[in-house]
Amino acid sequence: MAKLKIDVTDLHKSFGNNEVLKGITTRFNEGDVVCIIGPSGSGKSTFLRTLNGLEEITSGTVIVDGYDLSNKKTDLNQVRQEVGMVFQQFNLFPNMTVLDNITYAPLELKKMSKDEAHTKALDLLEKVGLSDKADAMPESLSGGQKQRVAIARALAMDPDLMLFDEPTSALDPEMVGDVLEVMQELAKEGMTMLIVTHEMGFARKVANRVIFTDGGEILEDSTPDQVFDKPQHPRLKDFLNKVL
Ligand code: ADP
Ligand code: MG
Repeated sequence: MAKLKIDVTDLHKSFGNNEVLKGITTRFNEGDVVCIIGPSGSGKSTFLRTLNGLEEITSGTVIVDGYDLSNKKTDLNQVRQEVGMVFQQFNLFPNMTVLDNITYAPLELKKMSKDEAHTKALDLLEKVGLSDKADAMPESLSGGQKQRVAIARALAMDPDLMLFDEPTSALDPEMVGDVLEVMQELAKEGMTMLIVTHEMGFARKVANRVIFTDGGEILEDSTPDQVFDKPQHPRLKDFLNKVL
């Protein structure tokens, strides 16, 4: 199989008159673990969402694993099966058990057998440290547990790429570590991951690349050491002064 590639060329996205992405050009390769940092409102979520077809592209091209998302004929459902996404607010199905949350998409979209989906879900629950929660309802879980279920649910589709949009921003501080640990483990296993985060320690430790965005543009794209220790752009310096 060809290696996963994500190619973004001169991507623009506007909401009405508000141009949110102003010409993003970048590439991601299989195994990349990229943290995207930047001030609120700089277009980070919008950018991630264009990578699995949740936002329509205004102009430019986005090619994810051979799928041209700038082409309206592309089957977005196909793309979304290969791209897992984890949101700040978990978005679990509230009326389903943890197990059903995880097996739903494999059963419906992949036509996996019930046995196989079940076994896989239990394996994934073990991986995220929640073996005992298979029959729990989401509302009985802590935020950190919900987010780990959300990660397991995304992984159940065997994605080639995982997108994380501030996965720990809604969590109480004591829950953050468990979620980051699961993500670090995934990175170690070679999962390709794009992570919007304010966790600078995690970015430094786990990412092979850090991208700083502001005002809908990429202002810096380099190694964590370079970005955190030798920031070049004045707006990155300013941002780091505020968050570190
Ligand atoms: P970030 O994730 O960096 O905080 P976002 O991508 O969420 O930034 O938002 C960037 C800008 O796009 C903001 O000005 C926001 O108000 C606007 N925006 C985002 N989503 C929509 C939408 N669905 N409709 C209109 N404006 C939007
Ligand atoms: Mg956001």
